[in-house]
Amino acid sequence: MLIANYGYKDGSGEYFITLDTDKCDGCGKCVEVCPASVLEVIPNEFDIEDGNIMGVRDEHRHKLKYSCAPCKPTTGDIEPPCVTACLSQAITHFLSSAKGQVL
Ligand code: SF4
Ligand code: SF4
Repeated sequence: MLIANYGYKDGSGEYFITLDTDKCDGCGKCVEVCPASVLEVIPNEFDIEDGNIMGVRDEHRHKLKYSCAPCKPTTGDIEPPCVTACLSQAITHFLSSAKGQVL
């Protein structure tokens, strides 16, 4: 299983979107539902024979805390649209504050 990690840690917490590249078929459903154009479909650099996969746009990789704010994934019970749109369950959205609180 190959995992692509996009995100960062800073003093306020950890903000990551991870993708299981084996599960992602590049269908683009997550891109369509993202209200902030954070996601894109890109060539699969992990496997040159394997078409496209989801990627996180460069300009958003270091500000996911803010870029993903429109989805307000503020409780552990509500999955953001990108996660629910992915029928392959390839996306994990991990946002947590430095205090250990799940955002
Ligand atoms: S949480 Fe929302 S803004 Fe962030 S990548 Fe997913 S759909 Fe886009
Ligand atoms: S919806 Fe899932 S399978 Fe489709 S491109 Fe996004 S991450 Fe990949």
